[in-house]
Amino acid sequence: MRYGVTVVKDYGEYFNIVNIEPESNIYGPGKRFVIWVQGCSLACKECWNQKMWSESPQTILHREVLLETILNTDGIRGVTLLGGEPLEQQVNLFWLLGKIREKSDLTIFVFSGYELDEIALLGASDDLQKLCDMIAIGCYRQSYRNVDQQWIGSSNQSVMYPNGSRETGLPQKLYQVEIIIDDNVSLSITCFPDDDLVKAIMD
Ligand code: SF4
Repeated sequence: MRYGVTVVKDYGEYFNIVNIEPESNIYGPGKRFVIWVQGCSLACKECWNQKMWSESPQTILHREVLLETILNTDGIRGVTLLGGEPLEQQVNLFWLLGKIREKSDLTIFVFSGYELDEIALLGASDDLQKLCDMIAIGCYRQSYRNVDQQWIGSSNQSVMYPNGSRETGLPQKLYQVEIIIDDNVSLSITCFPDDDLVKAIMD
């Protein structure tokens, strides 16, 4: 394990979540329900999501409520979880993924900052491979930034399709960001936008 520590947080049957985007188009094939979990102990130096490191509760959501919300969202092809670190809430993560598979045809894409050997040490390899259709492995590294890979932001990362994956969408050579305007007309930009691009959009 990277820092000699295995961190799996216990929030009972609740997720600690920082954001949900029910209809995103840039975190995997097709339109997807995207969940950013709160909390990541890996503390990578070049992380873009440092506000998601703390395990302090943000939005605490019962897993049944999250499941029902996902299942009641029309027109999505799948569900994507990222963060933060989804595997640090793995009990609820695997419960949720199992229920999604049981009750729908939605495909499942999970991003983890852990490497494969670390995932094995977390005891999560089998469940992750069994339940996911796609897995993004590795943390974002600015020094390996690569804007030619759809869905992931740096070339040390990779996207796996486990045996039995139901997902047929393959990554294209694409640089995507997504601009979201909420009900309060507040604007946010997701993914890994360059400063110049953010400035151009905000101006
Ligand atoms: S694994 Fe991802 S969220 Fe966690 S510190 Fe590294 S880059 Fe940030």
